Parts: sequence; structure tokens; C-alpha cells
Amino acid sequence: MKTQGNLAYPDAQSGSAAEPSAESPPALLPVAAVDARLVARVVDRLVAALGQSLPVSAAAAEKRPGSHPSLQPCRWDEVANAGDADASVAAIVLLLAAKHDAAQTALVDDIARRAKESPGTRVLLVGTFLRHFADARTIRDEAEVRRRLDGVPITFLRAGHLLGDGTRLACRLRSLSWLAPLVPRRISSTFLNESDLWAMVATEAAEAGTMRRASCRELTLLGRNRPWREVLGEHNPGGPLSAGLRGLATVLSFLLVGQLVALFVGPLRRWSSRLRSCWFDTLYPQSVTELLSLYNRYGYRDVKVVGYNTGVVHFGQTFPGRTVVSTIKTAGPPRIDGYRVKLDAGTLMRTTIDALRADDKELFVVPNYSYISMGTCFFVPVHGSGSEVTTVADTIERVLLYDPVEDRLVATSRSEEAFGRYLYNPASGALLLRLYVRAKEKSRYFVKQETLSATSGEAVLEVFADREPSNIEIRKSQAASETIDVYKYYDQGDGEGGGAGALEMPKDAIGRLWDRLEENPISSYLFHAMVRKFGYHVELFFTKEEFVRFWETHTELPISKIQLRYVKQDGMPHSPFGKHDCISADLFMRRKHSSVFQEYLRNNFSHVQSNVGKHSMLAG
Ligand SMILES: Cc1cc2nc3c(=O)[nH]c(=O)nc-3n(C[C@H](O)[C@H](O)[C@H](O)COP(=O)(O)OP(=O)(O)OC[C@H]3O[C@@H](n4cnc5c(N)ncnc54)[C@H](O)[C@@H]3O)c2cc1C
Repeated sequence: MKTQGNLAYPDAQSGSAAEPSAESPPALLPVAAVDARLVARVVDRLVAALGQSLPVSAAAAEKRPGSHPSLQPCRWDEVANAGDADASVAAIVLLLAAKHDAAQTALVDDIARRAKESPGTRVLLVGTFLRHFADARTIRDEAEVRRRLDGVPITFLRAGHLLGDGTRLACRLRSLSWLAPLVPRRISSTFLNESDLWAMVATEAAEAGTMRRASCRELTLLGRNRPWREVLGEHNPGGPLSAGLRGLATVLSFLLVGQLVALFVGPLRRWSSRLRSCWFDTLYPQSVTELLSLYNRYGYRDVKVVGYNTGVVHFGQTFPGRTVVSTIKTAGPPRIDGYRVKLDAGTLMRTTIDALRADDKELFVVPNYSYISMGTCFFVPVHGSGSEVTTVADTIERVLLYDPVEDRLVATSRSEEAFGRYLYNPASGALLLRLYVRAKEKSRYFVKQETLSATSGEAVLEVFADREPSNIEIRKSQAASETIDVYKYYDQGDGEGGGAGALEMPKDAIGRLWDRLEENPISSYLFHAMVRKFGYHVELFFTKEEFVRFWETHTELPISKIQLRYVKQDGMPHSPFGKHDCISADLFMRRKHSSVFQEYLRNNFSHVQSNVGKHSMLAG
């Protein structure tokens, strides 16, 4: 296993630089309320300078509510004129103004000069998280600051909406708190306690000297994702006026006024980055750098990394308080090298299949649905119909992960202990960045179907004992049905007389339908919305003994579809089939019946393993 202490960002974005201001730096910086956006009570352009021999303004420190005790705020003119150019400065912290102006240009130039005089000094730039919403001004201003600090190690620290006694947002929330009953719960954003921001700044500043020189780091601390309704409610100033207005808002909410306003405002987010930053629960970073800036050691608990996001969109999974961050837009094309494919975690299986097909190759395992990110296959058992290899993960040879708990990159291969520590273990918190997957020559498949009477569990196990097909699937349309449909898949050459019935992909007719539905945005929306609202899905991994018991007792259950597969033991510590072969039972029912089923599970199979990727209503 190889690890890296300092993170390298392989695709750091440079951004476009704006025209520099023509104004020359003033000797003394003007005292003005320049940073009212970040912290309302700051009356000066504060700079916290850490290191030795630097003056500290106690008065300025007192003006900085909620600041961290190890930060020493002082005015830049005091620092710049300290006259001790040789003093070693670990970090200079600059709160970026809401709008990059001439004063900030002068300050940044001065800081660049000071930092270059003291090699090793890192400049920490504290600003807004609007960049993640493609806010043009933020991107332009950051690029300008970055350009002016060229050659100086810098860290961008971006914050979600800041909450705290002195923040401007808190003042606004107090005056608008009465609106809380009107705001629909689905309108949410991220809120960060000011003290958490300063704790991050303090840690980054303290560790600045140990970081790689000349590197540019980017860290975002979003904070918890919470409904505005809840946050507004917490800022109720009390008093009769507020109570009266709140009563009025409650009456208006019964008339659905809030819902109607939300219906109108929602689509406007498309055109306004600021509106998007006020109403979101999912982010789609555009690069690995941006993904890593969002998923870092300070804020990873507030983020849920996903792939194509089927868990939320199709199965209705929820992650309260966390912002869902999808990897899907960070992916580059698959890189095929012989029988091995190098993939970014966000690469779609669909894209991978197409790239391999152009090379007359294919994956060992092809599921019915190919709108799945390849990175997901490391955490979720994804299986297909035609292959004797059980899951996609069985064909993953190497991975590159970021472990936020240890704050380091981990490169590990299948034979190493670390690989097993992360495989099928979303609870590890690791973010998968890259994977190497085995591929094979393209095959054609043949399927033979037969209908049998659904007798005992032992008889079903007998069907799976047939070793001639490459894979066997069993379907039962209703729990009470008296027959089962058996599908036996044969790789090319194994089947008898496949001829015209040969399949390009080892999928049945219904499997081919799923991809078609996803290709069209309207059918995709309707399909997922229907299943999310009315369906309940779970995949259970039974031992053979458990399966026989399940088969004896399941016929009374309100299950609409059962699909069975044989899953081979893989010996991995977090695998649901690590210790023994299993029968996977993929079960679908109407959502209204889910409580009956859950009750049945609690009473009969309280410890049965399930598939986290295919579980409706899973919350984590
Ligand atoms: C119509 C349909 C048909 C299906 N058919 C099959 C089938 O034939 N066989 C089968 O096995 N499954 C099938 N599935 C289930 C599917 O494989 C799972 O739902 C899978 O999880 C979807 O992939 P995703 O990328 O959208 O997952 P997501 O919901 O995006 O992610 C699942 C989990 O993976 C983890 N994760 C993903 N990427 C990363 C990363 N980079 N770093 C850290 N953690 C990560 C997270 O914990 C996340 O919660 C089907 C689903 C549908 C909707």
C-alpha cells in the first residue's frame, strides 16, 4: 500500500484572470466595513497573522467575535510595518471581500510581497462557497487573487452560509424568522457555525509550515444541510409583533402560499448562482480537485459522496443533514490497456461498456442497468446475469482512495489488507477516486428459460447446483405464485444451438428496458418518481439455511417480485458474503406493505445482511 501525506490535486483549475486594478497601493489601508458579507461586526479589513515577532492588536481581536483563540487578528498595516522582514511567518489569513476591489488588490499585492520575503509563508484566503455554484464573479475574483499571489503557497478556504451571533445572516434571520411556517421543508442549504470556520482556519494556519511549498490547496466547509424553515425558527426574537406575524404566516401556509412561491422561485435557480446556493441538497463537482475540496478532513461528515445517485433518486434514500455530492461529472474517459481498464470513480458503466465494445472487449459482470458509476461497484455488490464472476468488485485490481479520517491518499491493490478494509465498507468514510478493472474478450450469450413448480427451498438450491451454465437466475412474480421461472445463461460455445437467440449483452428483456427508460429525461423522471413514491426494494443475502427458512415462510408476504441469484463467497472482511456462499433475494413490493415486511424480517431474520445500494428508505 502506498500513501501520500500531502494531497496532490492532479487537475487544479487555473481559472481566468481579470484585468488588474490600475490603482497603486495606499501607504495605509483605509478603515472601512469592507467585509460585512462574511462577518457583520468586523469594522476593519482584518488579517490574522500567525508566527513569531508579529504585533497583535488586542483591540482588533476583541472586535472579532467567535474567532479562534490561537488566531491573532491584527490590522495589515501593523503587520506590514512591523519592520522585521526576517521574522518567520507561518501563515497570513485574509478574509476575502465580497467584491474584489482596488483596496483588496493593493492588500493582496502587499501580502504577496511580504510572503515572498518570508519563504514558506502560506496565505490562507477565506471566502465564499459560491464557486461551487459556478458564480462568475467569485471565479473571476479568485483567479485574480491567485494570479497576484503567483509563487506563494495559498489555500482557499470556502465557507457555507455563516451562522453566529455577529454574522449578517443571523441578523437577517432574526428579522425574517416569522416567515418560517411559510417556507417548505424541501428548501434547504448549508449552514456553518462561525466557530467551526475559525477552528479550520486555525488548524490550517498552525500546520501551514508543514505543507508542500508552492502548492495550492482548496478546502470547503459547507456545514450541515438544513431546511431554512428550521434555521429561521431557531432565530425567533420573540415578542408580540413576531408572534403576530408568525400567526399570519401560519394562516398563509394553510393557503399553500409558500408552496406556490416555491414553485415559481425553484426554476429561477437555473439562472442565478446565488439562488442555487440558497436552495440545494446535491452538488455535482466538475473536477477531482473540486470533489476533494468538498470532501476534506474538516467537513466530510456533512457530505455524502455518491455515484450516479440512484440510491436517492430511485430508492428514496435520505441522508439528513448531509449534502449529497455526486462524482459523475468529475470523470474522464476510460483508459484501456490490454485487459485492464483505468477508470475515474465517477465514470458511468454505460460509458465503460461502450469504450470496451469499441475495442471488442467487455466487463466480466454486466448488470441489467448500466447507469451506475463504476466507483459505486467498490462499495455496493453489483452483479449481472451472465457471468460466473459474481460481482464487479471481484474484478477490481487496484484503487486510489482518499481517507478523510487520516487525511491522506491510499493506493492499494486486491492482495493488500487495506483493500479489504475499504471494500464494501461505505462506513469507512473513504472517497474512491480511481479504480483499475479487469476486462475480457467480447462474448455472446445464450439463455435458456424453463418454468418449474416452486416447491421447497432445498429444490430451489438444487437448481443452483447446476454448474454447466455461467450463471442462473430465478424469478417468481408473486410470493404466493406456485411456479418459478429459471433463466440459465451460457457464455458463447457453452449453450446448445443458441443461433438466432444469441444475446449481445447478458440481459433479459426487462433489463434492456431499464436503460431505455433512463436515456429519456421524461421517462427517467417518471420511472424514478413512481418507484420512489410507491415502491419498496431490498436485496437480502441469505445463507443456505436462512434461505430454506425464508422459502418456507415467504408465501404469505406481500412481495410483488422475487429474483434469486447464487453469490459466491469472496472472503473480504466487510462483504455480506465474505464468510460463506449466499442466495441473494432481490425483493420488490409496494411501499405501503413495507412495514409488514420489516416486521417479518425483525421477527425472523434480524441479522440478515442487505445490499446498501438497493435499499429503499435507507438513511445514513
Ligand atoms: C432499474 C434498475 C436496475 C438495476 N439492476 C441492477 C442489476 O441488474 N444488478 C445490480 O447489482 N444492481 C442493479 N441495480 C441497483 C444498482 O446497482 C445500485 O442501486 C447502485 O448502487 C446504483 O449505482 P449509483 O452509482 O447510482 O449508486 P449511488 O446511489 O450513487 O451510490 C451508492 C453508494 O455507493 C457509495 N459510493 C459511490 N461512489 C462512491 C465514491 N466515489 N466514493 C465513496 N463512496 C461512493 C456511497 O456509499 C453511495 O451511497 C439496479 C437499479 C435500478 C434503478
